[in-house]
Parts: sequence; structure tokens; C-alpha cells
Amino acid sequence: VTSDDADRRAGADMACKDFVELITAYLDGALPDDVRTRVDEHLDLCDGCQNVLAQWRTIIALAGQLTEADVENTDEITRDRLLSIVRGLRRR
Ligand SMILES: [Zn+2]
Repeated sequence: VTSDDADRRAGADMACKDFVELITAYLDGALPDDVRTRVDEHLDLCDGCQNVLAQWRTIIALAGQLTEADVENTDEITRDRLLSIVRGLRRR
């Protein structure tokens, strides 16, 4: 078994939670091309993650004004990421 084939299958079948793990790097343009391609493929197939991505873009645009109370309304994984983004942006 070559790990390359396994990786490719995993990529085509990327789980939404994997997408969430990658989304900040994706938005930063920090992903390697092959990973970014997998994310784009997942986005083509997954309306849910398209919506999440759109929300993130909005949130990042608004992050300077976002409060931690706003973030409390999101799910746990997203909340952790959001809080680190919000805090990171405020440090600038
Ligand atoms: Zn998804």
C-alpha cells in the first residue's frame, strides 16, 4: 500500500472537521498547493463548508468589532479558532 494513494482518497473524502482545521491557513493563503486543491475539491462538494467559509470571511472582515459574546454562538471547534483569530487581530 502506498501512502500516496491513501492520501489521495482521504483528500477526495475530506471530512468537514478537517476542513475546519485548515480553514484559517486556507484563508491566509498559507496552504501548500496540493492541500489547497483538496480544500477546493471539498468546497465544490460541500455546501455546508461553503457557508462556513463565507461566514469566516465575514467574521475576519469584522473581527475588529467582534466580541467574545458573538463568538459564543458558534460551535465549539469554530469558537476556538475564532477566538484565536480575534485575539490575534487585536494584537496588531
Ligand atoms: Zn464540508
